Amino acid sequence: MPPTSSNSRIKPVRVRFAPSPTGTTHLGSARTALYNYLLAQQTSGQFILRFEDTDRKRLVPEAEKDLIDSLKWLGLQWDEGPDIGGPFAPYRQSERKEIYQQHAEELINKGHAFYCFCTREELEAVRKEQIKNQQQPQYAGPCRNYNKDEAKARVAAGEEYVVRFKMPKEGSITGHDRLRGEITVQNSTLDDSVLLKSDGHALYHLAAMVDDHLMGITHVFRGEEWLPSLPLHAHIYRAFGWQEPEWVHLSVFLKPSGKGKMSKRDTEQMKLTGKSIFVKDLEAMGYLPEGVLNWMALMGWSYDDHTEFFTLQDLIEKFTIGKLNPKAAAIDYKKLDHFNGLHIRNLSVAELSERIRPYFEVEGYSVSTEQIAQITPIIQVRMTTLNDAPAVAGFFFQDDITPQPEDLIAKKTTAAESATAAKRAYEVLKSLADINRESTEPQMRSLADDLGLKAGQLFSILRVAVTGQKVSPPLFESMEIIGRETSIARLEQAIKMLEELANNDV
Ligand code: GLU
Repeated sequence: MPPTSSNSRIKPVRVRFAPSPTGTTHLGSARTALYNYLLAQQTSGQFILRFEDTDRKRLVPEAEKDLIDSLKWLGLQWDEGPDIGGPFAPYRQSERKEIYQQHAEELINKGHAFYCFCTREELEAVRKEQIKNQQQPQYAGPCRNYNKDEAKARVAAGEEYVVRFKMPKEGSITGHDRLRGEITVQNSTLDDSVLLKSDGHALYHLAAMVDDHLMGITHVFRGEEWLPSLPLHAHIYRAFGWQEPEWVHLSVFLKPSGKGKMSKRDTEQMKLTGKSIFVKDLEAMGYLPEGVLNWMALMGWSYDDHTEFFTLQDLIEKFTIGKLNPKAAAIDYKKLDHFNGLHIRNLSVAELSERIRPYFEVEGYSVSTEQIAQITPIIQVRMTTLNDAPAVAGFFFQDDITPQPEDLIAKKTTAAESATAAKRAYEVLKSLADINRESTEPQMRSLADDLGLKAGQLFSILRVAVTGQKVSPPLFESMEIIGRETSIARLEQAIKMLEELANNDV
């Protein structure tokens, strides 16, 4: 561990990423997983994956797989989890129902929770009344004061119930968030929250606290939306007599405009503009995991005021909780493009070649290792995403290209003038034994002079003729890769097209 990292001096942490499998893995979740992973790696601790699936109605069948695939793609491997097991298995809350029931009972026995038999209708009526009287809606039914043994007898007789936390009516509680400091609230403002539902499944408030304790979690990274629950959670820990973990509530993401939080609707609309907050979409758009990680890490954390390029290893070494920013950050896709470009350029040619190869193959091009090794260095500087590869360089793999005839006409020339220039260029190419930048570029520059053209005008004719594109990797390097014969044949085809255009002009 580097001596510069303050966290490296703390003892190994046990941290967990505890998503509810209720949708597609998005940036917020992935960033929480990342910070967990970094701290675990940095302190040689453990990173645990736990599925919080007690809200059975909200489950989405593919969500677990999407979470696993997304984390794996990002390279954030966990040490214990539902798929690999571990000393505190099971790591899926739906398989831990009895554990929560036992703990609910423990709280009841200690006088910190109670069985509640109120019906939905009764609760709703009280709630309406409280709202009408401008009171904070809170549990106000009789069950809190029932005799414990009588309540247990009703449960044993099969009556439907939930278990609620028995919130003290007096006093206050102070919770501690690592980023915001102490948070004190009056207990009178807190509700007798439900811990166990009538279907026997625990709610998050109970399940997560029990699991975090039993699994030895030392630091809880979770979204800022859980901050209002911190007092209740502190109460639950203390009611059990447990030592609280360090709570770290991470800032939320704002819309790219900076105005307001991202809603589900915003997410859908964003997709129409070709952007997405979902990890698998970013993969499909050709972003590198390295670029996404770098981008995400800096949405809520910084190392100093200028360093921006981080590999995962850099982040492991440099991450500190103290540098997390509690302020909400706007999602900035320009930065994602920027970081992705940096990481594309940071790859070795061999590595980038292997990563772009499938993008050509999916277009039906057959790609030889030799060819791709030649192409990669000249397109590496021009790519923002891997998806750019076929658009920038697909022409290398095409047997025939068909330029748009009009594109062959250089700016400020007629078709006839461009045809003449192309024919002269053809003669020069024919006279050269090899086509490459050293041999060809000076010849073409002096030809442009002879023709009274700017080099750019002549090059644009050659570029469209040989690559079929108005924008391409460097022209003469491209011609070298395409080969002398093919380059000449393509120029010949272009001359015919230009002559036809010129004939049509008269
Ligand atoms: N299941 C909770 C969520 O997805 C986890 C919050 C936490 O990490 O404690 O929001």
